[in-house]
Amino acid sequence: MSGVDVIARLVAAAESRARDGLGRRLRTIANGDPTHVIVDGRRLLNFSSNDYLGLAGHPALVAALKQAAGEHGVGATAASLVCGHRRPHAELEEALADWTGRDRALLFSTGYAANVGVMQALLAAGDCCVQDRLNHASLIDGARLAGCALRRYPHADVEAARRQLALCEDGGAMLVSDGVFSMDGDIAPLAGLASCAAEMEATLMVDDAHGLGVLGAEGAGSVVEAGLDASQVPVLMATLGKALGTAGAFVAGDGDFITALAQFARSHVYSTAPPPALAAAALAAVSIARREQWRRERLAALVEHFRNGAQAMDLPLLPSRTPIQPLLLGGAERTVAVSTALERDGFLVVAIRPPTVPAGRARLRITLTAAHDFGDVDKLLRALAKAMRDNGGP
Ligand SMILES: *Cc1c(COP(=O)(O)O)cnc(C)c1O
Repeated sequence: MSGVDVIARLVAAAESRARDGLGRRLRTIANGDPTHVIVDGRRLLNFSSNDYLGLAGHPALVAALKQAAGEHGVGATAASLVCGHRRPHAELEEALADWTGRDRALLFSTGYAANVGVMQALLAAGDCCVQDRLNHASLIDGARLAGCALRRYPHADVEAARRQLALCEDGGAMLVSDGVFSMDGDIAPLAGLASCAAEMEATLMVDDAHGLGVLGAEGAGSVVEAGLDASQVPVLMATLGKALGTAGAFVAGDGDFITALAQFARSHVYSTAPPPALAAAALAAVSIARREQWRRERLAALVEHFRNGAQAMDLPLLPSRTPIQPLLLGGAERTVAVSTALERDGFLVVAIRPPTVPAGRARLRITLTAAHDFGDVDKLLRALAKAMRDNGGP
């Protein structure tokens, strides 16, 4: 008999987190329009979504989803390898491979499942996985699940990555980084990581959840922007739930690798395929994201406009040229106070606190989308100036 009530222990942990002011609230959001949400009956200008290109509500995506649901039904009815792999999945995989300049791509239901699946397929006990300290939680969990040694290096420090790789034992080694860091918005030193991986004979993997659609020619992502190909970054993962405005994720690479991955990635083999209609919507999103360069141009102009304004006000901006524009406020309490003041003024800017970010690094994670206009950004800047002034200054 163990005598430990695991549910009571979990409940106590949640209560303790709430006492520390770090509890999170699940809020039910009603949809307003591409830039607004309705929260508790109030219409808020939204600066917290990852819909960077403004595609989540695009009529072409909605039409593709409806049309495909009519043809294929709602659910895929089984895992891909059973009978869940439908024509929209196949077309989407082909389109994603073509976009990212790789032989093949394999779909997963979520980015979390993709990361866990690919890492568990590639790594095992005796291997070593070297990761940036600020990598997404799903990459950390993937390495843990694989049972390999996990070594983390200080953020964006290529020399430290090299030192960690040098400490790996004789087994296989992977070097893994976010392309764009999800909470900081900065871009990984990909060229440096690629030479480091080559020199240390490690396999480089990039999670481009926030780069795909936003960076590089035709929005092909941070890896393409850095001028790297599949020989330098053999494992590319990206998601469809951010700039592509839908849901799901994929891993892209050489044909042999992807064929083998489909056999061994447990989150692919033992999970129902994503709804075919969702794949059809994502296919429409890929086509718009590639073609409509104006969305990226507008986004870049909005980012620049926001940064100029924030700099003029001495706001604590982190260095980022992506649509993720965090204001580093430090303490969780003050960050929540500023976020709450903004909400009273009609803006949704969610406070990001530990454990999502390190202690003392709480922030407002402001995200911009191509659906915003300059007036929206100006309104936000004015509200920020006031909220910061009322809560201890910039
Ligand atoms: C969002 C995100 C994921 C997870 O993707 P989901 O499709 O939301 O599960 C993985 N990696 C990074 C860097 C992300 O930002």
